[in-house]
Amino acid sequence: MRPFNERDYAGLMWSEMSWVEVQRAAEEGRIALLPLGSIEQHGPMIPVGCDQFLAHTWTLEGARRARDEHHVPVVVLPTIPFGRSTQHMDFPGTISLSLETYVKLLEDIVREVIRAGFRKIVCVSGHGGNFGPAREALRDLSGKLKSEGQVGVRFYLADSSNCFTGMNKIYAKMKQGQFNFHADACETSYYLFHRPDLVKQEGMVRPDVKRDAMPLHLDWFTKRDITESGSSGDPTLANPEYGELSYEYTTGAIGAFLKRVWDEPVGD
Ligand SMILES: [Zn+2]
Repeated sequence: MRPFNERDYAGLMWSEMSWVEVQRAAEEGRIALLPLGSIEQHGPMIPVGCDQFLAHTWTLEGARRARDEHHVPVVVLPTIPFGRSTQHMDFPGTISLSLETYVKLLEDIVREVIRAGFRKIVCVSGHGGNFGPAREALRDLSGKLKSEGQVGVRFYLADSSNCFTGMNKIYAKMKQGQFNFHADACETSYYLFHRPDLVKQEGMVRPDVKRDAMPLHLDWFTKRDITESGSSGDPTLANPEYGELSYEYTTGAIGAFLKRVWDEPVGD
């Protein structure tokens, strides 16, 4: 595969369409995809926009593969850059939305997509901290829509249970040798493949990670409880081949997931 280039996605991006094209896309029954990012510290070696970049690139390439490999019609909404990143607030550069704002933001956007005529909406999150809030926001909204008499709308969430399992194969190959949950060799490899110019060589050091599992308490913060540098795993093991493989696995899984979404009847 070749590195991400936004010009490869002509005809898929909502923000590049005229209103006439959006109307036609809705009439064609296209699936609307909403990429969910976050802006949060990712150690000293890769950008704070990592998960926004993952969501953006995974969703566009996954949509292209759904269209080209499975004949599934799709349209991709603009990526929401900000997400839920409370645990990384002890580092500068993190911008975390409150839970209330995040849930309301998703509801407002999704309601507008429905108003435009779309009936199947798939959120694709590049950040694990968005999974819970997004799932609950969509479930809550589906209840509201039902009580308002709005029928025939379906919501889906691409997450680690259905689309990101290929990453485990990469983790197994890497043997990072320490607890890794975030900003690790895998995410660094992703940048080495797509945007090596954004990898900061001086930050490529194996961090001191304080533990070998997630804390038992819920109110953990990354710097206080896990790692002073913000990274985990061992970024010095990163290489562009792992980045390409994770891109291949994840976007292939998203394309196949969208085929299942397309095949599922909407009904009432
Ligand atoms: Zn990340």
